[in-house]
Amino acid sequence: MTDFLKSFMLIELLKGMRLTGRYAFKSKITIEYPEEKTPLSPRFRGLHALRRYENGEERCIACKLCEAVCPAMAITIESAVRDDGSRRTTRYDIDLNKCIFCGFCEESCPVDSIVETSILEYHGESRSDLYFTKDMLLAVGDKFESEIAAAKQADAKYR
Ligand code: SF4
Ligand code: SF4
Repeated sequence: MTDFLKSFMLIELLKGMRLTGRYAFKSKITIEYPEEKTPLSPRFRGLHALRRYENGEERCIACKLCEAVCPAMAITIESAVRDDGSRRTTRYDIDLNKCIFCGFCEESCPVDSIVETSILEYHGESRSDLYFTKDMLLAVGDKFESEIAAAKQADAKYR
């Protein structure tokens, strides 16, 4: 009987309309992506990049800590000693098909060389498009160095 009366008086419908009315004039929580974007944390883990020092020298010293710590085994490094006695990578590849964006590579790097940028709008149309070589990673680092440095600076006080 109660159910019949509830149905007859459209109680459920009225409840729904009350809920709709409660939110109809509140500020909206949805955004119109990609025209509108939400703020990103300085710790956001997006596309990888290799950084250089201000004099143009590569930061990476080929210690291979990032390769060892990577749980997805996505990083491949080969290295050689230069004429000046310093060790540098001859190959530094990241297979983003394997990467799980855990951030361990960035955390392990003693010279802030490998980083994950806030770049999230990229894609590949085949697996090979997501295989990033050293030159590609350095190019990302060169292009976005100011943003990377600003994110590092913003996060520094929490480390
Ligand atoms: S983010 Fe994680 S999975 Fe991806 S390359 Fe770095 S250590 Fe490997
Ligand atoms: S990116 Fe950093 S952790 Fe990885 S090999 Fe280079 S210096 Fe070592």
